[in-house]
Amino acid sequence: MNSVPPELYVQWRAQQEALFLLHERDTPLPPERLLQTIWRHQRLQRDLLRTLDGQPLRILHPGFWNREAGPDFRGAIVQFGSEEPLSGDIEVDVLPENWQAHQHDRNPAFAGVILRVVWTAGRPASSAAPALALREFLDMPVEDMQLWAAHSAAETWPDNLRGACSTPLAQLPPDRREALLRQAALVRFQRKARELENRARQAGWEQALWEGIFRALGYKQNIWPMQRVAELLPRLREGAPALLAWQARLLGISGFLTAAPPAAEGAEYARALWDHWWRERETFRAELLPRKIWRMNGLRPANQPQRRLAMAAHWLAAGDILTRLETWFTAGPSPGLLPDTLLTCLQPPLDDFWSWHWSFTSPRQARPQPLLGESRATDLAINVILPWFWTRARAGKNDRLVLAAEERFLQWPQAQDNTLLRLARQRLLGGHTARLSSAAGQQGLLQIVHDFCDRSNALCAECTFPDLVRKYA
Ligand code: SF4
Repeated sequence: MNSVPPELYVQWRAQQEALFLLHERDTPLPPERLLQTIWRHQRLQRDLLRTLDGQPLRILHPGFWNREAGPDFRGAIVQFGSEEPLSGDIEVDVLPENWQAHQHDRNPAFAGVILRVVWTAGRPASSAAPALALREFLDMPVEDMQLWAAHSAAETWPDNLRGACSTPLAQLPPDRREALLRQAALVRFQRKARELENRARQAGWEQALWEGIFRALGYKQNIWPMQRVAELLPRLREGAPALLAWQARLLGISGFLTAAPPAAEGAEYARALWDHWWRERETFRAELLPRKIWRMNGLRPANQPQRRLAMAAHWLAAGDILTRLETWFTAGPSPGLLPDTLLTCLQPPLDDFWSWHWSFTSPRQARPQPLLGESRATDLAINVILPWFWTRARAGKNDRLVLAAEERFLQWPQAQDNTLLRLARQRLLGGHTARLSSAAGQQGLLQIVHDFCDRSNALCAECTFPDLVRKYA
């Protein structure tokens, strides 16, 4: 076998850096990513900072990098002159005029921006937050800064952004840290179970389960429209519709069907749905959801609500999902098989249209795609199905099933990573635990963020969690 030269990777990186610099010399402005990295690590002469309108500026906390839509950094704390420190968001733009060019001035997601970070002075935006031009305040020449930023060190989580609890947590033996996270996870699990129980008291156990499932299918962008569709299920069930009619009702009531089908691959299927829906539309007119209620930006194809609704139509048309879930739960699958067996239980059969298309307008895939993936099945289990079984068993005073639901929750392997979890891991666990081994560990971390971080600020002011950990240790 050929051996890899020991310096190959180092040489490859050096070439990349040279190319990067060459490219940068051709452009007068640095990329926004470099500005974000400088801001995140505060590679600035921090004692000298002034905004473009001349106010002295102190950065008490740069905020947490937001990789999703909205401002680039959340939860920063800054102080203008001798005013009270302000907490809010930071938007990084290469030029000040990008604030208006990118329409941030009209986007409510940017209403909390307290400081704009730009590369250099430009045309000021009169109504926007004060701006800081980084170029004048770098703590090293820009060429060196580009080299540093191209280096992996710039990708690491800055030590001084770690939470005050990260040291006491790191000092805990791993098994005690895990036990603490599991305790916090059970608090979260039981809170979700109580919410389902409250709803079951008004609407019945099955309806409460459906609403929980629909909410989870809405992912974080479309929880509320999905909840509303689920609330309408008792009406939508009338006449026991078959699969296509269920899909027509769910997609129609959600505002996804129009008289003019898309001029694309899905036209024939959309026409078939419309053939059902136009006759029923009047009956459901009062319940119709406006199309614009759905948030579609930034959604992965698999998370599109039309696709999720089409999948739910399979469960509703089959009519046996509850029985199947009961069988799965009482069969007691071994811990290693929990996600696979639930996925098998919930996976609908091949759909003539949705197994082959991501949306009404996307081209046909070469191979069929499952309607439900493992990560969504895990979300359903952790957030809805297991809490529902737990609270229903508790209401029925069935201690064996209460314990079974709790055990399955604690045994469930880790769920898909997300931005919130990554931030929590880096801030609380100092990034040294690359991944948590179980979904319960992840849920425990989120519960700590909810109970402590959300009530404090980026500087961990007055947070009691570090002391609690020390006492626990
Ligand atoms: S606010 Fe509290 S729980 Fe959150 S990182 Fe800071 S010390 Fe830890």
